[in-house]
Amino acid sequence: MLEDKNQQRTSLAELGEFGLINHITKYFKTENLSTIKAIGDDAAVLDASEKQTLVTTDLLIEGVHFDLSYMPLKHLGYKAVVTNLSDVYAMNGVAEQITVSLAVSNRFSLEAIEELYAGIQLACETYNVDLIGGDTTSSTKGMLISITAIGKVIKDEAVYRNTAKETDLIVVTGDLGAAYLGLQVLEREKQVFKVDPNNQPDLENYTYLIERQLKPEARKDVAGLLKELEIKPTSMIDVSDGLSSELFHICTQSKVGCKVYEDKLPLDPQVISACEEFELDSTMVALSGGEDYELLFTVAIADFDKIKGNPHFSIIGHVTPENQGLQLITRAGQEIGLKAQGWNSLDRQD
Ligand SMILES: [Mg+2]
Repeated sequence: MLEDKNQQRTSLAELGEFGLINHITKYFKTENLSTIKAIGDDAAVLDASEKQTLVTTDLLIEGVHFDLSYMPLKHLGYKAVVTNLSDVYAMNGVAEQITVSLAVSNRFSLEAIEELYAGIQLACETYNVDLIGGDTTSSTKGMLISITAIGKVIKDEAVYRNTAKETDLIVVTGDLGAAYLGLQVLEREKQVFKVDPNNQPDLENYTYLIERQLKPEARKDVAGLLKELEIKPTSMIDVSDGLSSELFHICTQSKVGCKVYEDKLPLDPQVISACEEFELDSTMVALSGGEDYELLFTVAIADFDKIKGNPHFSIIGHVTPENQGLQLITRAGQEIGLKAQGWNSLDRQD
C-alpha cells in the first residue's frame, strides 16, 4: 500500500554490524545530564543521582505487533519509542534514556533502517530522551525491535497500580478508542489495495484515527498538569491494552472494585462516526480498543473540585469496595460487569 519511493538500496551486509551502528547513530545527540556516556563503549554510564530509576522494556515483532504494509518505518520507530515512554510517564516519572535493539532480515536495506531510526530520533528529540545503546543483528525472517526506556522519579513519588483507595475518583486523560478504529480503517484499505492496487484510499474522514494509530503520543505533560493542580494520583497506569484491562490491573492489584459510567467515556467525534460506519459499539471500542497511550489514574475524592471541568481530564467513575466488582453503568442506568478483554497479542491471528 505504501510505495517505496526510495530508489537507492544499500545492502546491510556492505556495512557490517559496526558500520551500521556508527552510521545510524551518528546524528543522535545526548541532552540529559544523567547521560554520562552513551553509545561507543562496552556499556553506557548513567548518573544515579538521588532519584529512583525506572526501567521498562518492550519487544515488538513484525506480523504480531506491527504490519509494514501500512505502517511506514519512520512511524514504527517513533511509535516503538513512544509506547515505552508512556510506561515511564505512567509511573509519574520522567524518561531520559532508551536503548534500541534490532534484528532484521536481508529483506531490509540500509535506507529502510535509516527510516526507522529517523522515527526513533524524532521521538528522542520530541521527548528529550537520549539513545544510549542497543544492538543490531540479523534475523532469518522479518524485523524485531526491543526498546528499553530508563527514567527518573523523585524518591517516593512513583505512582503504582496497587494503591487505589475506596471512594477515589477514576480519571482518564484525552480520549479513547481512536487508535483501534485507525487500525480498522488501515486494515480495510489494505484489503481494498489487495484487490485493486491502483485504488487511492480516501482517508480524509479518518485523519485523527489514523494519526492515533500510526503516530501516537505519550502523555509526558500529565505529571506537570497534575502538579500545577496540586494533585498526586493515588494509582496510575497507561492505556495500552484498553481501558477495561487497565481498570482490571488497578482494581485487582489494589483489591478494590469500580463503577465506570458509559456516558462519561471520552470519545472524539471521529470515533463516534467511524463506529456507526463500521457498525461497532463505541463503548466497547473505548473499553477494549487499546493503544490509546492515555493515562488512567485515581485521585482522592477531596480533589474533585481541582480536577472537574479540566479539558485534559475526564472523571469516568469511582472506586468501590472489592466485593462490588468492576461495573459499567450504562446510559440507561443498568449495571454490567466489566470483562478484561483488552487487546492481547497472544490471541491475535495474523
Ligand atoms: Mg503500561
